[in-house]
Amino acid sequence: MNRHGHTNGQAPVNGRPPTVSGQDPAGGGRVPLSVPGASPSLVTRAVRSGLGADTGHRAVMPPIHLSSNFLFDSPGVCGRYDYTRSGNPTRDLVATAIADLEGGCGAVVTSSGMSAISVVTRLLSAGDLLLAPRDCYGGSHRLFTAEARGGSYRVRFIDPTDPAALAEARVLRPRVIWLETPSNPLLRITDIAAWSRLARETGAICVVDNTFLSPVNQRPLDHGADLVVHSTTKFLNGHSDVVGGAVVAADPGLLEEVDWWTNAAGVAGSPFDAYLTLRGTRTLHARSRIHEENALEVVAALRRHDAVRRVYHPSLPDHPGHETARRQQTGWGSLVSFELRGGWEAVDAFVDGLDCFALAESLGGVESLVAHPATMTHASMDEQAQAAAGIGEGLLRLSVGIEAATDLVADLERALCRAEAAACQPV
Ligand SMILES: *Cc1c(COP(=O)(O)O)cnc(C)c1O
Repeated sequence: MNRHGHTNGQAPVNGRPPTVSGQDPAGGGRVPLSVPGASPSLVTRAVRSGLGADTGHRAVMPPIHLSSNFLFDSPGVCGRYDYTRSGNPTRDLVATAIADLEGGCGAVVTSSGMSAISVVTRLLSAGDLLLAPRDCYGGSHRLFTAEARGGSYRVRFIDPTDPAALAEARVLRPRVIWLETPSNPLLRITDIAAWSRLARETGAICVVDNTFLSPVNQRPLDHGADLVVHSTTKFLNGHSDVVGGAVVAADPGLLEEVDWWTNAAGVAGSPFDAYLTLRGTRTLHARSRIHEENALEVVAALRRHDAVRRVYHPSLPDHPGHETARRQQTGWGSLVSFELRGGWEAVDAFVDGLDCFALAESLGGVESLVAHPATMTHASMDEQAQAAAGIGEGLLRLSVGIEAATDLVADLERALCRAEAAACQPV
């Protein structure tokens, strides 16, 4: 049996990062929203995480350990690591960095956001109820539905922004409450503290998918959540060259369970991806600042233009979740959705007219992207489901990158004029 005890089915958390929660309260809403929601010491820790970890050659930046296996001293006796599926020094460094950013007691780093989510659903047994948002990430919706159909647990999709849903949940006695805020693509905001309180009162676990904001803009554990999941593919890596995930736990008991399942199911992330993601987390605060500055410029430009019917962004006072966002977020985020007037012709002309926004799915990279939810991210929903979720054919979603704001705004304005012209053409 190795240090992790994985061969006999236990997972002690030796060597896991120490608890950091409480050292750096993000202070949801207590700091100006234009400033990244972390104290300078957390910014510094993110930049310097893992520096000097190499005791062999005293490299400043930690080396990458690609080896799948590690030497035993004698039969049954090994050091900190024995096999990379169970534990790897490079992966542990990024797990420590992400746990620190979220204020958790530790994290597991997985091969994708979806594998992180599937590790969490392993905590459910047959008969247990999972409550999840109707408009959660499409991949999560598909996984929950399929696993529930197979009898692993029961699932019920709700609208967590509806106050009546809280009262209903108290009666339903869920085992896991799944939240995703802001939601995709309309950026609806769910009150994390209210649902975490309900979870505590009813013995449920509250899980927040924090992919859309990253810990710079929102730290769900500070508001009472038990687990945070990430697609590190997005902001944490931030360069659109890794697919990865993470689960951060508030307490060692849950950490032990998700760590055990990550090893048992074999879904830990590769050392190379861990190395790249750690590079990404060093610049997360710096990137986030520019992402947000640019997003606010983009929101203002969209609001000014006649071709745009409606803009969705939590920074806007008329956004239904604005006050809740102000309370629980420490930044507004850089996803922006909007409705174009003029239907499909306008959408086609707009997308075709863009140079600085690449037409692609995903989000959170340094490069700006545009997506058309009805035919791309949400194409698996039928027309009725799309209509119920507020996804019309004129809806577009932007992931605002860190290019020069003047270029992004000029590009959007040019494309909006084209959209307007196309919408006016007689058909
Ligand atoms: C992308 C995404 C996921 C899935 O992550 P992958 O890394 O693509 O597996 C889950 N949740 C949200 C909110 C996402 O945006």
